[in-house]
Amino acid sequence: MAILTFLGTRGGIEEKTETHFYHSSLLVQISKPYPFRLLIDYGRIHAYSLSLLQPDALLITHGHPDHYLWTFQTADSDVPVYLTQEILSYGEFSPCNPKIIVPYRQFNIGPFSIFPYRVLHSICCPAIGFKIVLPDRKIVLYNPDLVDIIAKEHILPGADYYIGDGSSIKTYLVRRKGEMLCGHTGIFAQLKWCEKYGIQNIIFTHLGQDTLSRIDDFSKLYPECALAYDRMKIAI
Ligand SMILES: [Zn+2]
Ligand SMILES: [Zn+2]
Repeated sequence: MAILTFLGTRGGIEEKTETHFYHSSLLVQISKPYPFRLLIDYGRIHAYSLSLLQPDALLITHGHPDHYLWTFQTADSDVPVYLTQEILSYGEFSPCNPKIIVPYRQFNIGPFSIFPYRVLHSICCPAIGFKIVLPDRKIVLYNPDLVDIIAKEHILPGADYYIGDGSSIKTYLVRRKGEMLCGHTGIFAQLKWCEKYGIQNIIFTHLGQDTLSRIDDFSKLYPECALAYDRMKIAI
């Protein structure tokens, strides 16, 4: 069994609520075959310091500051940070203990098997998603910020959990932020992907303005999935 804690669930937006305040970040904890704490993404607005969280490893999807603290800041931590060379080069600062990973090249962190795959999201700041195989063989996909997954037919089949981009419900958003082009596909499109490949457990994090504005009737409209909120914990 693994415990997933959504430490933060807010996208890179100004809007916030009490339950969607911290930038999207997920802690995956297991106790068997031995205790391990894997943190995925750690942005500028976070609930806890790394010294308090004590992750054994940190995985980064991309270099936008709502996912990667080191874009504009530094942190006093020697936790191994797994990231692509693109992310490392993008940041103004670097983690003390970076571990370079390559898209489509499987690697292990503690008892987890990780497969990083390409997602379309930003031209200046290329992003990856993670296929995480837990020690009990359950498969979790984590791609909180994306327009599309490259070669979905090789990534989505067999997944038990899909954790996706909750920026908007139906709108396809592509916007310019300074020189950065940032894109998001809607929840509706991601639900179609999950339906096509038979993924049963679907959770959206990284909430944006559109989704936050319709949060009250969301569960009635889309009962097949859940919206994460800050500190939501699930056992899988
Ligand atoms: Zn983001
Ligand atoms: Zn982003």
